[in-house]
Amino acid sequence: MQDKTLNANAQAVLDVLRADMHHPTAQELYEQVRHVRPHIGMATVYRILHQLKEQGMIREIGRDLECRYDADTGHHDHAICTQCGALLDVPADVRIPQEQLLRAAQSAGMELSDYEVRLYGRCRQCTQQYH
Ligand SMILES: [Zn+2]
Ligand SMILES: [Zn+2]
Repeated sequence: MQDKTLNANAQAVLDVLRADMHHPTAQELYEQVRHVRPHIGMATVYRILHQLKEQGMIREIGRDLECRYDADTGHHDHAICTQCGALLDVPADVRIPQEQLLRAAQSAGMELSDYEVRLYGRCRQCTQQYH
């Protein structure tokens, strides 16, 4: 998908992110984007990620250094492998009644804007490795 408002660098970052199902970090994205845009710098990748996020074209997951990016901006939940750190999409819908969510948010003193369920465990690859 070509987006006219994006420059070539931003388009490359978005293409790489859309093709990567593993929710890459900025560093991982940078290493992939370099294959197609050899002159791109890490700072540019950060700037582009920020812009794409502001435009609502990607999502940021987590806020620490290990922040990951997701080209799927629709609501979906994530599962984290506690062994290898893989961040996977949860294809099945996890439904929490709105009133429960609101009560939970209220108890934390939060005005709710969004939520996601996070599953922890071992991914398929890690389970297979140790059988
Ligand atoms: Zn794993
Ligand atoms: Zn995702």
